[in-house]
Amino acid sequence: MIATITLNPAIDKSIIISKFTIGKTNRARVDRIDPGGKGINVAKVLKQLGCQVITSGFLAGNNGRYIAAYLTEQEIMNDFIVIPGETRQNLKIVDPVKKTITEINEPGAEVDESYLKQLKDKVEELAAQCQVIVFSGSLPPGLPDHTYKQLILLAKERGAQTILDTGGKALWKGLEACPTLIKPNKQEVEELLQMEVGGGRLLDAADHLLALGLDVVVISLGAEGALLASGNQKLRAHPPAVEANSTVGAGDAMVAVFAYGLERGLPLAETLRLATAVSAATAAAHGSEVGDIELAKNMLHEVKIQEI
Ligand code: ATP
Ligand code: MG
Ligand code: MG
Repeated sequence: MIATITLNPAIDKSIIISKFTIGKTNRARVDRIDPGGKGINVAKVLKQLGCQVITSGFLAGNNGRYIAAYLTEQEIMNDFIVIPGETRQNLKIVDPVKKTITEINEPGAEVDESYLKQLKDKVEELAAQCQVIVFSGSLPPGLPDHTYKQLILLAKERGAQTILDTGGKALWKGLEACPTLIKPNKQEVEELLQMEVGGGRLLDAADHLLALGLDVVVISLGAEGALLASGNQKLRAHPPAVEANSTVGAGDAMVAVFAYGLERGLPLAETLRLATAVSAATAAAHGSEVGDIELAKNMLHEVKIQEI
């Protein structure tokens, strides 16, 4: 079994406004409302891959109940800690004329230490049952930067492999716990290492991160694919050309396949190929919808994996 932990979930609301103008009244059409949050997206992909998956983290208020009901309806096991306040709603304004997407993200419900204690107990319980635990997304207000570090250490003590997908200080501190795998995108790596990672520097960045004691580092590069580094092995993946309708969740899809690969003990090259196909299919899907796994499987042979 695989568990995904989302500390700051969200409802993703996507609205369409032609010629969106700041400072004016804009007419909007609701495109879609997706229960989101990175770990929830990861769980949706894992479900499609046929994995047993359980979702946890914090939920609050009506939005929280909506997300739990959605997961139950999708037959995705959910066991969240309910906290006071309201789970956030993140707004995506899609402008088909200007071809822009503007994102407005709320900070989320504040979490205090007593609820964090409940979550730590939950993570210990899940780690005893699961081969892999995925921690993804930003930290909610109220939790310290070392929260992921503490949770990863607890999970590792109970024998679970861990994946951390976050950015900024939460990632920096989380690395001190040496998760099994991280999948930052290029921008997150640049922020973390305080250096630009274009060209040959990408390999240096991967080495730098590996040297921190991680088993696997995957740096995702959007439409340009990904670089995987593990031990002495380096693999470069090139995705098939797809019409990118919404790249939201492409990273989450990639993380899901790596969780799947770790759980099943698949070779890294095989996992990277599948991850690249599934994330490309997600980039081709609309909204934060998960890419179709069958479509992804048909694209497997179009993914190029190159050893470097
Ligand atoms: P997220 O918004 O989900 O956090 P991310 O920024 O972490 O995403 P990206 O690097 O944007 O992650 O994308 C992850 C993977 O998705 C890429 O490594 C690539 O394999 C695939 N992907 C993203 N965009 C495209 C695209 N336009 N065409 C094909 N594949 C894509
Ligand atoms: Mg991206
Ligand atoms: Mg990401």
